[in-house]
Order: sequence, then C-alpha cells, then structure tokens
Amino acid sequence: MSDSEIFTNKDNEFIAWYPNALTPEGSASVWKPRRAAYYVHIPFCTAICDYCGFSVEKAKGAPTERYLDSLRREIERYIKDGRLANHRFECGHFGGGTPSVLEASQLLSIKKLLHDSLNIAPDAEITAEVNPISFTLEKAQAYYDGGINRISFGLQSFNDKVLKVLGRPHRVSDSEEIIKIIRQVGWTNYSLDIIYGVPGQTMEELREDLKRAADTGSTHISCFRLQVVPYTALKLREAAGQLPEQSPMEVLNEMDHVVAEALAGYGYRQYGVFDFAKPGYETVHNAIAFAAPQADYIGFGNSAYSFINQHVFVNYAQKEAYEKAIAEGKDPIAFAKKANMQEMMSRYFVLGVKFLRVPRSGFISEFGVEPEKIFGSVLERLLNSGMLKRDGDDYVLTSKGRYYVNNVSKEFYVGENVGKRQYLQFVSNLSPKQMQEYHQLHAARR
Ligand code: SF4
Repeated sequence: MSDSEIFTNKDNEFIAWYPNALTPEGSASVWKPRRAAYYVHIPFCTAICDYCGFSVEKAKGAPTERYLDSLRREIERYIKDGRLANHRFECGHFGGGTPSVLEASQLLSIKKLLHDSLNIAPDAEITAEVNPISFTLEKAQAYYDGGINRISFGLQSFNDKVLKVLGRPHRVSDSEEIIKIIRQVGWTNYSLDIIYGVPGQTMEELREDLKRAADTGSTHISCFRLQVVPYTALKLREAAGQLPEQSPMEVLNEMDHVVAEALAGYGYRQYGVFDFAKPGYETVHNAIAFAAPQADYIGFGNSAYSFINQHVFVNYAQKEAYEKAIAEGKDPIAFAKKANMQEMMSRYFVLGVKFLRVPRSGFISEFGVEPEKIFGSVLERLLNSGMLKRDGDDYVLTSKGRYYVNNVSKEFYVGENVGKRQYLQFVSNLSPKQMQEYHQLHAARR
C-alpha cells in the first residue's frame, strides 16, 4: 500500500488551534481569575516551645522591623510585576511563629498592603494565629476592627502538666483569658489547636481537653498527635530521660480514635486528618491549599512555600538568607519545581487524601481522564486493603486510611518524587550549648 492509500481525500482545512471542541459556555472561563489563598509567615514567638521544629526565633530583641521590611519588599515585588494579577484571593492566613507577638499596627500594615493591591474577595476568610501572653484585649480589638475575621488559637491543652511537658510558656489560666477576649471582642469563628499523645498524658486527661475545647464553643478544632522532632529541646529532654513515661503505641493509636469519636459527639465533623469543624466552618484555606481540586497558594516570608502557575516553590528557611535575597533584589526562592502533568495528577491525590474525600469528577474535569486510567493499580490496592472506599463518585479515606494517611498519600508519588522527603525547611531551635549536649547524648547512645 502506498502512503496516499490510507486517506481517501486530501484534507485541506487550515488547522490553526487545538483543542478544537470549543463551546460558547467555555468563553466564561477565558479571563476568569484563578482561585487563590495567601499565607504570611511571621517567624517570631514569645518563647520557643520545646517541641517546636519550625523556623522561628524569640521575638524579644529580634530585628522584627528589618524582617517586616523584607516581607513588604517581597510582596511589593510580586505585585509590581503583576505576577498575581490574575488571581482572586478567597482567604489569607497570618501564621508562623506567632503573628500576635507583633504590634497590631505592624501586622495590619502587611494586611493592608496585600488587600490594597490584590484582588481579594469581599467575604474572604482572613485568619491570624495567636498565642497566649502575646495577645491582649487591645490587640484583639485592633485585629477585629482591621478585618481579621477568624482566629486560630494555639491553646494545645487545658492541663498545666501537659503544657509543662511540651515546654509551652503559658498556663491554662492564660488560655482562659484569651478565650474570654476572643468572645468579648466578638469573633464567632475561631479555631483551637490541641496536641495529644504527650508523654505522661492519660486518656482521661485527653478526654477532658476535648470536652473543654468543645465547651468554649469554638467552630473549629485542629488536633495534632505529638511528634518528637529531631534537634528540638523536647528530643534533647527525651534523650536525657527527663520526660514522663510515654504511653504504649496501642494507647496512642487509641487516642486517635478517642479524638475523632469525642469531637463527633460534640458536633464537630472530621473533614481533614487533623481538622474538625462545626458544619459550614471548614476553613477556606484548607479547601484551597490541600483539598482536591486544589487551587493556587502564595506564601510570603522565610520558609513559606507556594504553589503558583504549576510551580511548587519554597522560600529560604533561614531568615538571614531570605532577607539577603530580598536586599539583593532577587526572589527569595530557595527551591522550585514545575509540576509536569503526571505530577499535577498525582498532587490531586497526594494532598487530597489529607482531606479525606477525593472527588473523581474534579479529576476528570481538571485532567480530562478518569483517575483509574492513571492510578488504577494504586487505587485498587488501597481499596482492597481497606485504606480507601468509594462513596458515590468520590474516593474516601477509611479510619484505617486516616491512621496511615502519609503512607496512602505517598502511594500516589510519581517519578523522581518517590522516596524523597520534605525536610528542606527544617531549622533547629537549639542553642549552641543545647546542640553540644544533644550530640553528646546521641553519641553516648550509639
Ligand atoms: S510551637 Fe508555635 S508557639 Fe511554640 S515556638 Fe513553635 S511556632 Fe512558636
């Protein structure tokens, strides 16, 4: 057969664009801004908690204004270039660290810069993380008047013994004062952070923490099981045998169930592995940054990470490196990667499973292919092992899957990401003397 025999007629159409299945409805999305969230990292705290593995330093005596100046310049840099012109921000989050260690005017000036320049939805959810000691009635009132419409409060426990083991600088009476302030000022939407699985903590103490958290009337509770992170003061105390005895693993696992059951009993729906909300109070931040289908997310400040224009990138974790890049007129980006199509599809599930429900329909409309065609064997393995189940058209994490959530998530890793960890942003908070002790203790154990 000659080449020409496979076509009956020569096609003379002038092919100018592709795809060509255009519809009149499609025109509505041509200039539609992309949904987005912003995050601002404030790397200062009143004191450094013993379990903390974040990139933070003590606020007292720290050059906060110098950092805020870099932050402003980073924001202005992106705004001036119009890089965020096609994004519509549905939420913002001031985190860290402890944003409330700043003067209210400092924090609100950063918010104003963002809100004067970006396309922000009028009903955007704007959250500030606060901690006891640094949050006062005057600051609270200024936040409220300045448009912070949601508070995330790092309470951690209603038990002084637990707070002491964690090396938190506050006590229960301080938390009670903050809750009073939050209510007095008028916030109806606020979240509490609780840590459990703390060495020496009993099941009864955990139940009491959950009850008291629910009794505050908070709309959202995030519960984290304690992880003793390397190169922290808590790890040092653990190595030195200074912590109360830790419960056996079965008890810690049982605590995961107790958290979910107790909070369900108090009217909170678990919508993320760590997150529980009263109906309608799931955070927009989680819906944009993690839950499938994810949207764009820009993080400002040292150690912040972002997902914009199909790129994931992280800023320098070390504050000084971040400030230096800004001073030199450069983007403060330490690492970045453009996600290829396979990684975009994988990301849909990798992050999506953390929020328990992954809709097939979103995958199909985003990528034009059924997820089973791409991840068929992975999905089958997770369904057969009881980690995932089908609910209507969605894939849903089971309680077994919640326990193994990171394992489930990593089943969707593809290509060079397989086996890679995300510890690039870790900065130790140990003093030089503590670091020396840490190494001595660990050398002696080898
Ligand atoms: S755990 Fe939170 S409050 Fe404590 S030092 Fe770390 S960032 Fe600050």
